[in-house]
Amino acid sequence: MNLVIVESPTKAKTIKRFLGKGYSVISSYGHIRDLPKNNMGIDIKSGFKPEYEVPENSKKQVSILKKHAKDADKIYFATDEDREGEAIAWHLKYLLKPKKENSKRIAFHEITKKAITDSLENPREIDQNLVDAQQARRVLDRLVGYELSPFLWKKVRMGLSAGRVQSAAVRMIVDRENEIRKFKPDEYWTIEAELGKKDSPKKDKFIAKLAKKDGKIIKKLDIKDNKQAEEITSDLKDAEYKITEIKKNERKKFPSPPFTTSTMQQEAAKKLYFSAKQTMMIAQQLYEGIEIGEGKPIGLITYMRTDSVNLSKEALSSSQNFIKKEYGDGYGLEKFRFFKKKSKLAQEAHEAIRPSSIERTPDSIRQYLNPKQFKLYDLIWRRMTASQMKEAIMDATTVDISAKNYLFRATGSIIKFDGFLKIYKTDTKEKLLPILKKEEILKLLKLHSNKHSTEPLPRYTEASLVKTMEEQGIGRPSTYAPTISTIQQRGYVKKNDDRKFEPTETGELVNKVLVEHFPKIVDLKFTAQMEKELDDIANGKIKWVPVIKEFYEPFKKNLKKKDKEVSKKELTEEKTKETCDKCGKPMVIKMGRFGKFMACSGYPACKNTKPLAEEKAKQDALQKQYAHEKCDKCGAQMKVKRGRYGEFLGCSNYPKCKGIKPIEKKTGAGCPKCGNGDIIEKRSKKGRTFYACNKFPECEFALWQKPNGEVCPKCKSLLVFAAGKKIKCSNKECDFVKGQ
Ligand SMILES: [Zn+2]
Ligand SMILES: [Zn+2]
Ligand SMILES: [Zn+2]
Ligand SMILES: [Zn+2]
Repeated sequence: MNLVIVESPTKAKTIKRFLGKGYSVISSYGHIRDLPKNNMGIDIKSGFKPEYEVPENSKKQVSILKKHAKDADKIYFATDEDREGEAIAWHLKYLLKPKKENSKRIAFHEITKKAITDSLENPREIDQNLVDAQQARRVLDRLVGYELSPFLWKKVRMGLSAGRVQSAAVRMIVDRENEIRKFKPDEYWTIEAELGKKDSPKKDKFIAKLAKKDGKIIKKLDIKDNKQAEEITSDLKDAEYKITEIKKNERKKFPSPPFTTSTMQQEAAKKLYFSAKQTMMIAQQLYEGIEIGEGKPIGLITYMRTDSVNLSKEALSSSQNFIKKEYGDGYGLEKFRFFKKKSKLAQEAHEAIRPSSIERTPDSIRQYLNPKQFKLYDLIWRRMTASQMKEAIMDATTVDISAKNYLFRATGSIIKFDGFLKIYKTDTKEKLLPILKKEEILKLLKLHSNKHSTEPLPRYTEASLVKTMEEQGIGRPSTYAPTISTIQQRGYVKKNDDRKFEPTETGELVNKVLVEHFPKIVDLKFTAQMEKELDDIANGKIKWVPVIKEFYEPFKKNLKKKDKEVSKKELTEEKTKETCDKCGKPMVIKMGRFGKFMACSGYPACKNTKPLAEEKAKQDALQKQYAHEKCDKCGAQMKVKRGRYGEFLGCSNYPKCKGIKPIEKKTGAGCPKCGNGDIIEKRSKKGRTFYACNKFPECEFALWQKPNGEVCPKCKSLLVFAAGKKIKCSNKECDFVKGQ
């Protein structure tokens, strides 16, 4: 009997199907050997030797594996093909201690019969370089986490933590927030002419933009105020609008490469609203195997952690056959299209994320997938197929129109040949112009002058954060998703109503401490350099222990120095001009578990505290609003207090009585379901904001998006705030939208 070991039971089931009777396939259920849970587990003095142990909940599985291994003729370690998988194989080998000649490593990047058979025909030894790169990352992250976090506990607050890649990601978000705060918008104006054909102005009209004055291009900020704009429009009211030139050209639009981990996470965030973590979880299900028909599991996509855009020869030729058969010869290519990688990262896997068979169209397997699996598979399938389809051809037209000493320009574009756009939607928009000819005199219908203001770079979305992390070299395919979920779990950043990342007060405080005292940990270039060195370890260019040593020694030295030098006060207190009304000492701003507050600098002798001015105003207003609110338990007056999720009402008899009530944050919208409730802001158990009827539990009406207080003119459902400063209808079947 031959033994094949993988890390997941689903994967085991899929592989089992492709192997004959002589094989048993067993799962290790993830890592079976790791650093200890409750202590650092690194022997720094003996060359950073990791002290691995078998976690309690893996012990049973390890003994099962050992029993099978003893009787096996051959053992194949078939864990995932990246560093993580290589390390699991290595740990398995260490624990099972097989005889050298009867154990082999096999790797494949899709779970299909052919891939498994091929890998069994080409087994190899465990790649120690890949294992070492994984060990180095683990040890590095452990050292930073275990040594820096206690510093934060001592000097800032208990329960905080710092991590290597996470802290760099938080910094990106805090830096962006600071840029937004500092940003001073500039006002500027643009002028557009609504023009029509002389004979049929109503039917054949279009918009042209003011582009030049006296032959000089008008730049974005050239028209600075209303006065300037009005001067131009009054100048142009009685002008003759004449077409001076019409230029036509063909523009080709090429498809994007098939997905890497990063681009898949970005597109799934933009098009499907999936978080990076969710995308990876679903992709893993598709990769490990889905039952297509009873008892027939198959891996639907290739390995989902990759930064490669390559496609295998088989995938390339089968996609041409499929495209030509399905859409016609015109949509196929004469030569395969190859893409170049943008980044110079090391390749852990050697192919892009693609369907394991292009013939398995999304619709043909829809019945076997849950809705989320279907959506992601559909996206992956389309992206890969489109990447090997003919480019789209756009016909672009530029029309120049003179009016006195001004020049207006209109552009139009139509899709001449849709090519890959047939199956992959992009933001390509057609803009039609009427049929026009040179020297034609047009009729001015209206002049518009529009006010704009410059905007700062926007806050990061899940998609733009992944994109920027990849561009900056912060992290790798295996780390984008876990990094983004960790910084949210730790409460350092949160998503606002627009699904964009904002730092929390805690996140800003920890970031400030790290930037000031541990600049390397949050230095993007340094973090990227570290990732590069991990790649070099994986490629066998350098050894892992010296890399750790070079990082650790200065880090530890600095940590010791800062531990002595820096006081808690310095890090957590801001001076103010106010004095304590109890003892006369200066008041300082402190950062508490629930945000900032004022406290006496004489603490602990004087325990006087009070809320910040704006906080106080908010609380006073609420207190007034709830002046007659009585405790349900003891009947005493309720007081406005501040907790983790903001203000709430607590009994004034506290701590004798622990009665509490939520403060209802009204949205101004009435409940459309029961007709007499108000829609208020609430928080789910996971901390996500939602909006629901305050007559709950009698009425269960609830929404994720915030209502703006109006109802839809089309269907009378509530209108809600949507991304991009838009207002849309909350009714999924209604298409009403307004706003920019
Ligand atoms: Zn005091
Ligand atoms: Zn009470
Ligand atoms: Zn209701
Ligand atoms: Zn509606």
